[in-house]
Amino acid sequence: MAHNSNFEIPAKFAFRPYRASWAVCRAELIGWWERPTTRFWALLPADRPEPDTVLARIDFLDPVIASKIHLEKPSAMGEIASFDKYTVPIDRNHVPKGILHPSENRSNTHDFHGRNFEMIVGHYSQRLEFLPVDKPDGPLRDAREMRREYFDLEKKSSALCDFLNRWGLWHRMFRRISGTFPCTTVFPNQFWEQREEYRRALVGTPRKWLTSSAPLKVESINEPPYFLVERSICMEAVQATITIDHLSNVKFGICKRSDCRRLYERRSRQKRLYCSPECAHLANVRKLRAKKKKTESKKGPKRNAKG
Ligand SMILES: [Zn+2]
Repeated sequence: MAHNSNFEIPAKFAFRPYRASWAVCRAELIGWWERPTTRFWALLPADRPEPDTVLARIDFLDPVIASKIHLEKPSAMGEIASFDKYTVPIDRNHVPKGILHPSENRSNTHDFHGRNFEMIVGHYSQRLEFLPVDKPDGPLRDAREMRREYFDLEKKSSALCDFLNRWGLWHRMFRRISGTFPCTTVFPNQFWEQREEYRRALVGTPRKWLTSSAPLKVESINEPPYFLVERSICMEAVQATITIDHLSNVKFGICKRSDCRRLYERRSRQKRLYCSPECAHLANVRKLRAKKKKTESKKGPKRNAKG
């Protein structure tokens, strides 16, 4: 129903990603994080509880890539932390549950031997310490293409790393691995969990997404349509495209083939269950096979079962 007070703002969406270099690393847990005793840390109130943070040592599996992303160079800021080289405090929520069980804590767990997991480390700029503040200088790119690749990515850290190297910064969070420039990190387990959330958001109701996600910030430009929504961080671009799709009433479905689960756009009102004719065909073949097997097993044991 239309309301008199409602109006539509025609706006252009643009995606101009920050470029970044990424490498797959191995993070090995070495213990719980303890507040360092250096002068810098002494300035902070000491009565605050120790955060639920573990300390990990980062192993750059490929030294060539590590040097390419400038992780080898020391930095002035590294000194205040006084950690060993290549160690980094990590919030326990980022550690896969199979590596650090939810029931484990500072008092009952002291042995971290052999606990490691993959982590993707990215380098953005040597100049900036924490957040990217300048607008990116790279070209405009297609956010839809990025999103398609994202949803179709094979669930492998190497594929994820390649994706990030093609597209740029994933989020705005930076952290300092001691003895390196500021890095940004992506934890594959969380990345895949988040992807499932976005997949569900895209097929879910507009209301659910639009009432809980970040609003589209619109800025003015000097030419039609005079309003611009620009994103430079991949995750924020994915979120914006989900918002735009819901606002434009584009409908999506998730392929019913359990080993596919690709997103597809639902263009007609006709109910469709699979992303492609290939998937529909394969699912049908499987259904027939399962049916055949069922009727065969009803007939009794297989004839060749004896020998
Ligand atoms: Zn499919």
